[in-house]
Amino acid sequence: MIPAVVRRALIRAYGNFVMKKSGCIFCQIIAREKPAVIIYEDDRCLAIEDLHPMSPVHVLVMPRKHIPTLKDGTAEDEGLLGYLLLVAARIARDKGIVDGGFRTVINTNAGAGQTVFHLHVHVMGGRTMRWPPG
Ligand code: AMP
Ligand code: ZN
Repeated sequence: MIPAVVRRALIRAYGNFVMKKSGCIFCQIIAREKPAVIIYEDDRCLAIEDLHPMSPVHVLVMPRKHIPTLKDGTAEDEGLLGYLLLVAARIARDKGIVDGGFRTVINTNAGAGQTVFHLHVHVMGGRTMRWPPG
């Protein structure tokens, strides 16, 4: 068992490598093994343009750490999960969709529409968003 402090340092040093789940497309994007339009990154997260945008602005904010779904987050992830929302809001500001309204979505499990099992926050805007979503 790697001590948490060492594990955190390893994750920082090697990006997502030690946590990587083989076959996870977002881990592969984070590791630069698969292409994506990366619009923001730092030591904790990455934001990419969605490949199949459902709105004029559609960005995905994901942690470097492989957390499959929101329900898999632990107390250790408390700060990280909050941070993803702050980054999402900053991206919405940078994309100019705050005044018109924007939506942040986390789908959890297939029944809710999750197709990529690496936690991510959708940041959507640039059009009128209907409620409730289907
Ligand atoms: P979800 O259905 O909530 O899991 O969201 C997954 C999102 O990832 C969808 O909006 C897809 O269009 C998007 N997506 C899947 N593969 C890629 C990729 N290689 N690059 C960018 N976005 C992707
Ligand atoms: Zn992953």
